[in-house]
Amino acid sequence: MTQDRIGGTAAWAPSHLPPRGVELSARQELACAVRHLDEAGFSENMTGHVSWQQPGSDTLLVNPWGYWWREVRGRDVLEVDLSGAVVTGDWDVTPAIHIHTELHRRRPDARVVVHSHPTYAAVLAAVPELPDIVHQNSSILADEMVLVDDYDGEVDTPLAGEALADAIGDKSVALLVSHGVIVTAPTMQEAVYKSVLFERTCEMHWRLRAFDQKATPIAEVFQRQLKASLVERAADVYWDGAIRQLVGREPDVLT
Ligand SMILES: [Zn+2]
Repeated sequence: MTQDRIGGTAAWAPSHLPPRGVELSARQELACAVRHLDEAGFSENMTGHVSWQQPGSDTLLVNPWGYWWREVRGRDVLEVDLSGAVVTGDWDVTPAIHIHTELHRRRPDARVVVHSHPTYAAVLAAVPELPDIVHQNSSILADEMVLVDDYDGEVDTPLAGEALADAIGDKSVALLVSHGVIVTAPTMQEAVYKSVLFERTCEMHWRLRAFDQKATPIAEVFQRQLKASLVERAADVYWDGAIRQLVGREPDVLT
């Protein structure tokens, strides 16, 4: 079998692509992210949060405590400092903001931190068991996942956030036993795409187990090429399409 493929932008750079079609503020983009993740099954009604530390900023944007993900609007998005205090915004921030603050503090690659309890991830978190790389698009998760198998209650203090960040180390996808999942990425498009692919991978892994089947392994050399392609030349295309459809269908997300 041929293994001399390239992957990533070098192989997949397009000549032109459909445009996003709308210019978004960071608050609007974060509101689009939580609504799209909800639509894609990466949510549990109002539970969970997406935080975003913009380049050069010492504050975070985050969705407010209380609104379900599917109803968040741009104006609902909060600005909070790294101690978890609200700087601007009309609503409270979740006490679980410390899941995010400690990752933002210590991980330059974690500019976006996504946390929720999507169903299939929660099933595997209950076992607990990380999913296999069950499909070529699961390769975005190759060498990225860690299982945090020590349940230590709610993460509502900086100290608990530090302990969790210690357990996650340098991984970008953490499955938390009896709880949910954390996904980190340098950009919003990569964070959203990786989150959606993680939940889909967990569902496929669960379905294979239900039929007492194991996934056919994908050689590591291909996983690396696929991962580069998915990060470099699919996450942005995916995110632009998700925004086009969401804004067209639910224009109030921008208000
Ligand atoms: Zn949680």
